Amino acid sequence: MKVAVIGGGASGMVAAIRLSQGGCEVSIFEHMPRMGKKILVTGSGKCNISNTDMDLKHFHGGSEQVINAVLGSCTPEKTKSFFENLGLYYKDRNGYLYPYSEQASAVVDVLRFAIRDLGIEVYTDTDIRSIIKCDASENLENREGFMIETSGGRFYFDRVIVSCGSNVSRNTGSDGSGYAIAKSLGHTVIRPLPALTFLTCEEDFYPSIAGIRTKASVTLFEKKRNENAYELLSTEEGELQLTKTGISGIAVFNLSYLAIKSLEGGCTVKAVIDFLPKVSDEETRELIQNRIQAQPDRDAEEMFIGLFAKSLGICICKRCGIELRTKCRDLDGGDVDRLLNRIKHFETYIKGYGDFEHAQVAQGGVSLDEVTNNLESRLAGGLYFTGEILDVNGDCGGYNLQWAASSAMCAAEHILGEES
Ligand SMILES: Cc1cc2nc3c(=O)[nH]c(=O)nc-3n(C[C@H](O)[C@H](O)[C@H](O)COP(=O)(O)OP(=O)(O)OC[C@H]3O[C@@H](n4cnc5c(N)ncnc54)[C@H](O)[C@@H]3O)c2cc1C
Repeated sequence: MKVAVIGGGASGMVAAIRLSQGGCEVSIFEHMPRMGKKILVTGSGKCNISNTDMDLKHFHGGSEQVINAVLGSCTPEKTKSFFENLGLYYKDRNGYLYPYSEQASAVVDVLRFAIRDLGIEVYTDTDIRSIIKCDASENLENREGFMIETSGGRFYFDRVIVSCGSNVSRNTGSDGSGYAIAKSLGHTVIRPLPALTFLTCEEDFYPSIAGIRTKASVTLFEKKRNENAYELLSTEEGELQLTKTGISGIAVFNLSYLAIKSLEGGCTVKAVIDFLPKVSDEETRELIQNRIQAQPDRDAEEMFIGLFAKSLGICICKRCGIELRTKCRDLDGGDVDRLLNRIKHFETYIKGYGDFEHAQVAQGGVSLDEVTNNLESRLAGGLYFTGEILDVNGDCGGYNLQWAASSAMCAAEHILGEES
């Protein structure tokens, strides 16, 4: 069976290798000069390839059923042994899995070498002009399949896998052209929006606290147009970074897809930060009172030194309306209440977000309602979609590369199963 894989990224390369191992004649079409460019920038060059916690709550998208089916049949154990067979060993850092060398280039290399050794045809610098599903009478080989018109000529294939990624980080090759291919084949593309990115906030104090990194919990709320009450969206505990324009860090990245969808839907979005997530309200009150008693002659602005960055302590005091030169001994019960509230419930209003060039993945993509549990198109049999082009986005922590690999294996196994 002749199979075309459109896109030589993480997902496309895994699919091509698995298909070729199973006996298919595979060609990869990649419009960049080299394959796997995006993998090189993952995990800050170390490539966080997977995670030991594969709970489905880390994956978001259109159809839970399809996501469950894909990850259930092409498990992380399966993709791990696929990579081990290519010579790539994993390193476990607190559940986050990396290549043993902690070099993203190792992942690209083992995939490239396998493609070379298996004799997979690779067409780089090749643009896809059109993909046309045709029946037996429409091509010289008298077989049902797909005609692919490229900048390098016209090709015929029995099956096509579209693994073009999203429109995040264009310079790595994912320029959104895969969505146009999907649409040309009749598929619905759920509006792609950035995910795993920073959020910008309305308040003007952010430049004064920029650069702070701390552990915190962040809870996101939305208020729909014409409604008065806020609804809880989700909570994340983890690393928080404060920037000149708002909030960032892994906790914020993981919430960003919800905030962005909500903002785009016309909602008001607020985040509530808890700077002491492991300490109860009552314990925090005691902690504030103890600090006041222990250092009565200190200025309020110095009260939190040793607990928070100085600039955050100052910001908290200012937001409580406490004059910075007030001596601690002059703070009253109302001040303690306000400080407690700002430390545990630091409200901030979200006004924007990092664009596709600052995001790690896209939410949205080819609708999961139009593919089977094996990722075959319901509209054009023999056509498959894998990886980020689909309406699936994972949390930070190796979930997106796991999806790229699992979805690739799933489509490849289905094609191989058909053939046998
Ligand atoms: C900065 C950054 C850091 C990240 N870090 C991590 C991490 O540590 N862990 C993790 O799990 N995920 C991470 N991700 C996300 C992860 O890289 C992607 O989800 C994953 O690479 C998607 O794989 P893919 O094969 O679907 O798409 P891609 O890797 O984007 O590959 C798509 C390929 O298709 C090619 N292509 C596109 N359109 C066409 C066309 N029309 N014709 C021919 N070729 C085409 C592209 O050039 C590209 O080579 C990160 C992303 C970024 C941007």
